[in-house]
Amino acid sequence: MKMIILARARIWAMALLVISLSAIGTATIAQGTADDEYEAGAVLWMQASGERAALSYQAFALARMVLDRDLRTARGKVRRALIVDIDETILDNSRYQAWLIKNHQNFNDQTWLDWVNRSEASAIPGAVEFLTYANVRGVRVFYITNRKAAEKDGTAANLRKLGFPNVNDETLLVRTDTKSSSKEPRRQSVSAKYRVVLLMGDNLNDFSDVFEKARTVMARMSITDQNKAKFGTRFIVLPNPMYGDWESAIYDYNLKLSEEGKAAKRKATLKD
Ligand SMILES: [Mg+2]
Repeated sequence: MKMIILARARIWAMALLVISLSAIGTATIAQGTADDEYEAGAVLWMQASGERAALSYQAFALARMVLDRDLRTARGKVRRALIVDIDETILDNSRYQAWLIKNHQNFNDQTWLDWVNRSEASAIPGAVEFLTYANVRGVRVFYITNRKAAEKDGTAANLRKLGFPNVNDETLLVRTDTKSSSKEPRRQSVSAKYRVVLLMGDNLNDFSDVFEKARTVMARMSITDQNKAKFGTRFIVLPNPMYGDWESAIYDYNLKLSEEGKAAKRKATLKD
C-alpha cells in the first residue's frame, strides 16, 4: 500500500512537473509569434565570426585609403566631410536582433526605443578609430541615420560613450520626415557646404537615391551593377545579413504579409 501511495505521489509529481513545464512553454510562445528563427544564422555570424570583424576592419582600412588619397591630391582649402549611417555601419545592434529571435518577436518601435535608450550598442570594429582619424585631420563626420527624433538622445549618449567624435545637433541627423525615409535631403544639406569624400552604410539607400527607386530584388541587383565603379571608391559597404531593404524587397515591401506569407516569399526567392 505504502509503495502504491509513493508510486502515485511520484506520478502526481511528474504530472505537475509536466503541467508546469508546458505552462512555461506556453508563456514563452505567448511572448510573440514571429517566425524569425531563420535569422539566427545571420545574428550568429555577426556575433560569433572573426570574419565579420575582419570585413569591418577591411572596410574601414579602405575608407582610410580613400580619405588619405583625397587629402593628398585635392588642392586648396577644401571643407571635407564623411557621411556615415549608424545602425550596422558604426553601431552593432545584434543583441537587439538576438533578443527578437529568443522572444519570437518582430521589430517594433517600442522595443527598439527601449534598446536605443539603453545606449548599450557596441561599436562596429574599426569604426571609432577611423572616424577619429578623419576628425583629427579636420574632416567633418556626419551621422545620417533613420533613427527618429525620439531616439536621438539615446543615440547621442551611445555614440559619445563609445568615443565617436564630434557628436552634436549639427552632425547627428536623425529622420524627422514622417512621410519619407529618404536620406537624400540630408545628404544634400551636407554636400551644399562640404566636399563629401565618401559615404559608408550597410544599406544601398545609405548612398544615393538612385537605389531607393529599385524596389525589387532584381532591380536592386541591377542598379548595384550599374553603379559598380562607385563601390570602394566613393561608397563603402559594411556587411549586414540580419535585416535591411534587401529583405524588404523579398517581401515586396508588404508590411501586412503574414509570417507564412514571408516564409513562402523567402523560399520562392531561394535559387537552387
Ligand atoms: Mg544601417
